[in-house]
Amino acid sequence: METHSDAIIIGGGLVGMVTALALSAFGVRTTVIDAADLEKTVSPDFDGRATAIASASWRMFGALGLADRLQGLDCPINEIRVTEGLRPQHLHFDGRAGGQDGGEAEGEPLGHMVENRHLRRALIDGGRQDALIDVRAPAKVARIERGEHGVCVTLADGDTIRAPLIIGADGRRSKLREDAGIRVARWQYRQTAIVGMIDHELPHNHVAFELFYPSGPFAILPMLDGEGQDLPHRSAIVWTVEGKHASAYLDLPPRALLAEMDKRIGGFLGELRLAAEPSSYPLGFHHAASYTAHRLALVGDAAHGIHPIAGQGLNMGLRDAAAIGEVLGEAKRLGLDLGEEEVISRYSRWRGLDNLAVAASTDILNRLFGLAPRPMQRLRAIGLGTVERVAPLKSFFMTEARGASGDLPQLLRGDRP
Ligand SMILES: Cc1cc2nc3c(=O)[nH]c(=O)nc-3n(C[C@H](O)[C@H](O)[C@H](O)COP(=O)(O)OP(=O)(O)OC[C@H]3O[C@@H](n4cnc5c(N)ncnc54)[C@H](O)[C@@H]3O)c2cc1C
Repeated sequence: METHSDAIIIGGGLVGMVTALALSAFGVRTTVIDAADLEKTVSPDFDGRATAIASASWRMFGALGLADRLQGLDCPINEIRVTEGLRPQHLHFDGRAGGQDGGEAEGEPLGHMVENRHLRRALIDGGRQDALIDVRAPAKVARIERGEHGVCVTLADGDTIRAPLIIGADGRRSKLREDAGIRVARWQYRQTAIVGMIDHELPHNHVAFELFYPSGPFAILPMLDGEGQDLPHRSAIVWTVEGKHASAYLDLPPRALLAEMDKRIGGFLGELRLAAEPSSYPLGFHHAASYTAHRLALVGDAAHGIHPIAGQGLNMGLRDAAAIGEVLGEAKRLGLDLGEEEVISRYSRWRGLDNLAVAASTDILNRLFGLAPRPMQRLRAIGLGTVERVAPLKSFFMTEARGASGDLPQLLRGDRP
């Protein structure tokens, strides 16, 4: 069977699905193709992580109906505290103070923590129920032809889909990017993230903590309170360790692993218990030299991947989705060819520089806090103190944390077209 669409999206992961919903909001019809059985991706065994959704991205979730689907499943982050290890000096962001930058209302949280399985559930249901989105999963792509006048994707079952543009949302090992010959700057950090969930005795008070250690940051992110009576509170942990030590930590019995964690936490959460089996992710950086090629645009991890130090990786992909939605929506309204170089280069210019700036600053931040010698530790403490005291600097970092910097697409301001 042959079908026609305005755009074909390869990859129905977090970014691919949000891209389809963003395009639908602008009246652009898509076909989303994923090799995986999406129902299996909502199991905690598939992805046990939780993600910090910055406040600007959450406004887009509101505009796309996702915030409603996630109601009761998100935990607001009201404050962020950044410290060098357990030193008393800290940088403190309080979302409830509001701000002049991204137009956020007083009292709007800085972000929301959501388990990835809940995010995936909301996106799959949203995608399947949307009349402008045709989800094909699991489906194997047999051939992709990017011709002069359009794209044709042939599936292994013989179905063909035609569209003026193909969007690569196929993750960090993007085959579409590789087949288009787009070069990628990439390196591996000698670090691995140990990701887990802990129940604890004392409340987190909706504060996200980023404790910097020479081996990497230790992030404690507030989650909805757990079920346990004795340890009623819950947080997600993203603990960056030297790659060579990761398996030794993971092989520790739970009690010894918790003791190692508590050494970094400094006891302020009281008694701890593992709420889920921890998993590990080797960390790397990659950035595509171009986000577009002939009748192709890349979004999310297909275009970029960064250190999770500032919890911005998915948020960058969400901004890609909002921007490409707006660009293609406007092109469709004007009756333009959606795959035309002039149209897609607007997306590439819009997102390329912004993403590169975030990617570079997270890389520098990780390297800066990885330097162990004493003079560097003093310098970092002075740096944190300076940002804390100088209002414009603090406001700058707060805007970044909210994901509200730069030229914001309409959806990220919370406006539905
Ligand atoms: C430890 C860790 C913590 C993180 N924490 C945060 C955080 O707090 N905040 C944040 O913003 N980001 C965070 N991130 C980053 C975030 O997880 C990623 O940026 C995000 O998951 C990327 O989503 P994606 O949809 O682009 O790619 P993926 O999730 O990789 O999805 C790609 C999809 O494409 C499909 N696919 C691939 N190839 C094909 C093919 N040939 N045909 C059909 N389908 C295909 C796959 O099946 C998959 O469904 C973190 C990352 C790590 C490692």
